[in-house]
Amino acid sequence: RNTGRAGGLNPDNGGAVDPKNLKVKLVLLGDSGVGKSCIVLRFVRGQFDPTSKVTVGASFLSQTIALQDSTTVKFEIWDTAGQERYAALAPLYYRGAAVAVVVYDITSPESFAKAQYWVKELQKHGSPDIVMALVGNKADLNEKREVTTQDGIDCAEKNGMFFIETSAKTADNINQLFEEIAKRLPRPSAA
Ligand code: GDP
Repeated sequence: RNTGRAGGLNPDNGGAVDPKNLKVKLVLLGDSGVGKSCIVLRFVRGQFDPTSKVTVGASFLSQTIALQDSTTVKFEIWDTAGQERYAALAPLYYRGAAVAVVVYDITSPESFAKAQYWVKELQKHGSPDIVMALVGNKADLNEKREVTTQDGIDCAEKNGMFFIETSAKTADNINQLFEEIAKRLPRPSAA
């Protein structure tokens, strides 16, 4: 049973949705090592720390952004915390997610193949109106690139996803990733 609602179910006010202040669950998916934790830390704390392996764990980090039209979007960001191996947990993890961000590493074709696996999983278990983004991370390592930008674009187009290449290391396109997601959220109409 999927109890999720795109646009955000707001538990703080009994489930009513405030169209001006969206609150959305965002899940990160992708192979271990592609940079999921680093993307979150860059977005939430503005830092890149390759030495500290942060596990977000059972909890999540949240970050609010403001859009041009004075709407705010609060992302509750769920990281797999290294549990990407336990496929059985996946449906629980996806539940209620309005957004899924599937990450691969542009230097790793294996991680790109795995990303396509996660996309299929989302199509099976995710909410039908989930907003999906495909992210090619580590774009700063262009000299080691093994997945072309066009490969990413093609995969995203085929699956109705938004595509972007990022670098958590240089901060390139990190804020843009979340802003573009926010723009694509279905807006609940005022009740
Ligand atoms: P996760 O397992 O997907 O959460 O991956 P992490 O966030 O722990 O990152 C795995 C490794 O990739 C770490 O050593 C990071 O320093 C490195 N890394 C993450 N993002 C980038 C990036 O954009 N560029 C480069 N060069 N390295 C990155």
